[in-house]
Amino acid sequence: MSETTSASTKLSRRSLLGKSSTIAVAAAGSAWAASCDTGSESAAVEDGTAPASPGSQGDRLVLLGTGGGPIWWPGTDRRGFAAAVVANEKVYLIDCGAGVGERLKQAYLVPPEKQKPDRSGGLEQLRGVFLTHLHSDHTIDYFNLFLYGWFNGLRDVESPVDVYGPGRRGELEPVFTPPGKKASEPPVINPENPTPGTVDMTEYLYQAYALDVNDRMRDGGQPNLRDLVHVHDIDPPLPQGFDPNETPAPSMDPFLVHEDENVRVTATLVDHRPMFPAFGFRFDTPSGSVVFSGDTCRSENLIELARDCDLLVHEVISWDYINRASSPAGRNHLLQSHTPVDQVGRVAADCGARTLVLAHIVPGNCPDEKLLAAQEGYTGELVIGRDLMQIPLRG
Ligand SMILES: [Zn+2]
Ligand SMILES: [Zn+2]
Repeated sequence: MSETTSASTKLSRRSLLGKSSTIAVAAAGSAWAASCDTGSESAAVEDGTAPASPGSQGDRLVLLGTGGGPIWWPGTDRRGFAAAVVANEKVYLIDCGAGVGERLKQAYLVPPEKQKPDRSGGLEQLRGVFLTHLHSDHTIDYFNLFLYGWFNGLRDVESPVDVYGPGRRGELEPVFTPPGKKASEPPVINPENPTPGTVDMTEYLYQAYALDVNDRMRDGGQPNLRDLVHVHDIDPPLPQGFDPNETPAPSMDPFLVHEDENVRVTATLVDHRPMFPAFGFRFDTPSGSVVFSGDTCRSENLIELARDCDLLVHEVISWDYINRASSPAGRNHLLQSHTPVDQVGRVAADCGARTLVLAHIVPGNCPDEKLLAAQEGYTGELVIGRDLMQIPLRG
């Protein structure tokens, strides 16, 4: 237990909060890994420090889902990737992987004075949604936020929720063909618009759910969904002659996506080829800064975006998983679009991030001890993200 005691002391100092969670810590040098086990007493309680109640911790990062990829990972409680930045009590959501609505409800990011005794609602404070890219493991529960959200606080937002996500890719990518294999052209889905952007996707989802949406408004008295959520395609600055199939993340300065009284959100293109557009986002608040890598291989654009940030939330993929690919071409394909665990520390070091937070972990059931390789080349703090973990911004 001595390791747990010293580790939980460190956790208390960091005020790292996990609701209804045990925070078990494996300290290794300056690295520590935290894991949450719903239903147990918290390590913070063990050393006499009561965890703050949900919704009362000030500006902070909240990890909602820390798994990556379109797989229901066995043997873990990691859900699909999603996170939130809470700034001045408003909630800014990053990606909508599987389970995002349920996790938001569990996190219950509602200030104490607005919390309802029966814990109804939950989305009242939502102000923005930012989609890094349109792979399904980042969007599968996007429209769930609209449809279920309606009944869980969305109808009570103070101002419409702004959604920002990638626009149309513009052209289909070539068919990936490993050397020596024969190319076969798969059928094209929705040929009149085979690479829809966020606004298109939202409109298609409205159409797909028209029966339900019309029923809820006509028979259920729900307010107009379109008045509650405003959707925007992000328009990155692209160079002349840009070709998404050649250089999907041309060198660029970070550009502004959204600014309000609580946050300034900037973005850059990252390299998740052949997916395009794929963004990293930076949230600057009066209390500190959080950067999300999105899905990417090592990206110089991201390093520029994340310069001197407080928290860098970066994707990671294990070598075991990469090596499972059946061919060298398959492995290269993965390495061109994701960041291996022993390279992510150097990214954090190169941008000067104070704390590196691993999320979008592939595989989702990767053992913590393998993820500690992320410390390589990095002397800052390493956090192995778990669902519902909250990390305060210090100001
Ligand atoms: Zn992903
Ligand atoms: Zn992806």
